[in-house]
Amino acid sequence: MEYSDFKIHHLDGYIQSLYIVEYADKLLLLDGGSRGDVMKIEYFITRTLKRPMSDLKLIVVTHLHPDHAGAAPHLRKKFNIPIAGHPELDYWYKGFSGQIQHLLDTLFAWFVAYKLRNKYKRVWFQPSLKPDYELCDDQMLPFFYDWEVLCTPGHTTHDISVLNRKERIIYIGDLAIKLGSKFNLPFPVALPSVMEKSLIRVSELDVDNILFAHGGVVNESSEVVFDIVRSKLKNYPPPKFKRVKWFTNLNRAIRKYYN
Ligand SMILES: [Zn+2]
Ligand SMILES: [Zn+2]
Repeated sequence: MEYSDFKIHHLDGYIQSLYIVEYADKLLLLDGGSRGDVMKIEYFITRTLKRPMSDLKLIVVTHLHPDHAGAAPHLRKKFNIPIAGHPELDYWYKGFSGQIQHLLDTLFAWFVAYKLRNKYKRVWFQPSLKPDYELCDDQMLPFFYDWEVLCTPGHTTHDISVLNRKERIIYIGDLAIKLGSKFNLPFPVALPSVMEKSLIRVSELDVDNILFAHGGVVNESSEVVFDIVRSKLKNYPPPKFKRVKWFTNLNRAIRKYYN
């Protein structure tokens, strides 16, 4: 996809999409990918784009899940590329219940890969990232001052989306997903009432290019897409997942969010 100042390249990551925003003098990675995506990102930048890895100036991690934070620390270690994320990112897996959740999230990522019939790759990921840049609501991304940070919690306590107002594009991480032709809530929704506010916020943006982490690029108005997703909150959680609410209530970060 070509825009006036940059191109956006859509890569199929292990179980999610990856987006590389290419400017004449720099690259931006949305978002932190799965552990098994490191080589793919490196190959695309150096072989396909024929650019040095030093052109990659920033990795934005939208939230601390294996398909959004798995590759980032390895790219940082190998190429010294800074990571940007929400200040509460590293609180997500704190404590004993956090460790259990980290294990379950890793297993869930493997299950998704199995369902997608993807061949085995490493999914285990660091439960703490220590972001080099902390991203607060309404601030612009470091080095990329045309991209604005929006805090859009609900799936976790610390989700962010990034918005380019000039080009009317938003990358939403796991704020919503698209399965086939259907828009849906992510799994899980840790904070349903907070999720509703986030969906209302993005539905009111003047945006018509929506980049999904699960579902690719959608060229539809944000109002239409996110109103559909929000309507599904009425039936959340579905009966077979009622126990999810009990389990998510053990999470320290969720309890901290409400206090
Ligand atoms: Zn997620
Ligand atoms: Zn995801």
